Amino acid sequence: MSSTKSLTPLDVAQDFVLKRVKPLKPIACPLSECCGLVLAADIESREDVPPFRNTASDGFAVRAKDTVGASKENPILLKVVATIAAGGAEDPELESGSAVRIMTGAPVPTDADSVVMVEDTIAPVDDDENAIYVIKEAAVGDSIRDAGSDIQIGQTVLPAGTVLNPAAIGVLASLGYKKVPVFARPKVGVISTGSELVDAGDIGKGMIRDSNRPALIEAVKQSGFDAVDLGIVVDDAQLLENAFKEAAILCDAIITSGGVSVGDYDLTKQVLAKLSNGDMKWMQVAIKPAKPFAFGTVSGTPLFGLPGNPVSALVSFELFARPAIRKLMNHPTPFKRLLNATLQEDVVRRRDGKVHFLRALCQSVNGELQASLKVGQMSHMLSRMASANALIVVPDGDGYEAGTKLPVILLDE
Ligand code: AMP
Ligand code: MG
Repeated sequence: MSSTKSLTPLDVAQDFVLKRVKPLKPIACPLSECCGLVLAADIESREDVPPFRNTASDGFAVRAKDTVGASKENPILLKVVATIAAGGAEDPELESGSAVRIMTGAPVPTDADSVVMVEDTIAPVDDDENAIYVIKEAAVGDSIRDAGSDIQIGQTVLPAGTVLNPAAIGVLASLGYKKVPVFARPKVGVISTGSELVDAGDIGKGMIRDSNRPALIEAVKQSGFDAVDLGIVVDDAQLLENAFKEAAILCDAIITSGGVSVGDYDLTKQVLAKLSNGDMKWMQVAIKPAKPFAFGTVSGTPLFGLPGNPVSALVSFELFARPAIRKLMNHPTPFKRLLNATLQEDVVRRRDGKVHFLRALCQSVNGELQASLKVGQMSHMLSRMASANALIVVPDGDGYEAGTKLPVILLDE
C-alpha cells in the first residue's frame, strides 16, 4: 500500500486540472443545437414580445365602462360587430355598446380596453351570433397582454454566461434569432487501451470485453458533450501514438482508460509522456476508488487518463473529466452540487487518508434524502454500480453510523 504522504488530496488534483483547462472559442450556433450551451455574449431584444397588444383569453373585446353593473342577475346585452381570430390583422371600430368576438392571441382592437372571458358571457336564447350577454363587470386591462409586456425592444434578455435551457431557446426563437454566440459543445474522444480488450463477438482466452468505452461514451453524452468513439487501441507504442495524435486533432478533449496505475507494464505512460512533451502528470489521488489518474495536454488538447477498473473509470470521469470539460464550455458551475443525505446503514471504514466514494441508492422520503448502501462496493463490480444513482462522499475516518448525514453526488442529474 502506498503511504498517504505520496497521495494528492482530491481538491488539489481537481484544482490542478481545472486551472489547465481554458474555454473553447465561441461559435455562432444554430438555435436547434444550443440547448445546454453557454452564451458567449449578451442577447439584446430586437423586438417587443409580445409584438402587439393581444388577448390572453377567448372572449369579447369591450369598453369596460359598457359592462358596469353586469352580473348573472343583470346581464348586459352588447352588439357583436366583428370577429378576430389569432393571426388576424383587422382593427374594427368599436362604438359604445358593442363588442368584438376575439380568440386567444388575436390583436385587441384599439377602441377596446378590456376583454371579457367567454365564461363571463351567455349567448342569447336564439343563439344570435351578433349579440352577447355580459354577466360580470370587466375592469380596464382584463385579459390584455400589452406589447412588450414580456420583453421590451433593446432590453438585455439573456446575459453572457447564461446556460441555455429550453425556455431560453424559446425566448431566442420568440425574438427571431436563428443563431447565437455560444461556447462550442466539446467533442470528447473516448479511447480504451489494453491488449486484453475486445468488443462484442468472440472472446479469446485471457481477453475481457471493453465496458469502459461504451460506459464513458454514455457518460459523455449524458453530460451534454458530443462523444467520438475512437475504439480500442492495443498495447503497441506506435498504434497508441497514432491514436492519441489523431484524437488531439479530431477532438476538444480525450478520455482514455487503462494503463495509468503505478505497477502497470504499460506503454500508454511512455507514449503520453512523449506526446505531451513531459506535460503529463501522473497522480495517486487520495480517494477510493479511482486513485490513479493522469492529466496533461497533447498538442494543446486536454487528455484525461482514467483508471482501467470500470467503476474507477466512471468515478474518475465524475470527479475530474466532467467538471473540466464543463469548463471547456465555460460552464458557470463545473462541479455538480453536493446534497446531504441520511445514511440508512452504518458505513464501515478505517482511517486511510482517503475520501471514499460509495455507490448508493438515494431517494427522497417525506422530504428527506436517504442514501442506502445496498449495492456492492468493489471497484470491478460495475453491475452493482448500475443499480446506484449516487455517490456518497465519505470523509476519512473510522466509520459513520446510520442516521449520519453525508454529502452525495447524484449520478443521474
Ligand atoms: P489497468 O488500469 O490497465 O491496469 O486496468 C485495470 C483493470 O481494469 C484490469 O483488470 C483491466 O483488465 C481492466 N480494464 C482496463 N480497461 C478496461 C476496459 N476498457 N473495460 C473493462 N475493463 C478494463
Ligand atoms: Mg492495461
